[in-house]
Amino acid sequence: MEDLICVKGTSQMGSGVFATKDIRKDEIIAEFRGPRIKIPDMTGIPDEVWSHFFNVGVDEYIIAREPGVRTNHSCDPNAGIARDVFLIAMRDIAKGEQVTFDYSVITADNWRLECKCGSPICRKVISNYVDLPEAVKKKYEKYTPDWIKALRK
Ligand SMILES: [Zn+2]
Repeated sequence: MEDLICVKGTSQMGSGVFATKDIRKDEIIAEFRGPRIKIPDMTGIPDEVWSHFFNVGVDEYIIAREPGVRTNHSCDPNAGIARDVFLIAMRDIAKGEQVTFDYSVITADNWRLECKCGSPICRKVISNYVDLPEAVKKKYEKYTPDWIKALRK
């Protein structure tokens, strides 16, 4: 796969990933790669390790490498997740644009984080998938991993 993204600093969100060329809607942008582990209990995991975790199941994670792992959250993202491990464009993305996805589409536990994505439709809090408004779930439908869509409240 060609490198469609690179890691760069942002003014608001630490580092992030940016399109290195124009990307078409539904194009696969990157794969989250790394060792797969199962962690039934997140207690005591250092932040630096934790920030590399990418959920591929309720208690299953990839310890993801750059550049994918540097993808920031947005409540109005231009990308989503396909087949569990692929970052996929939800719309056309112009070269130089920051690529983001909504972390809620891979969040199964009770993790919550205050959101400062700055989007006009910001939910103010990033939390788990089951708590997403139905309209948002619908919007992300094609760009949400099957394992998390199967979860119920
Ligand atoms: Zn937000």
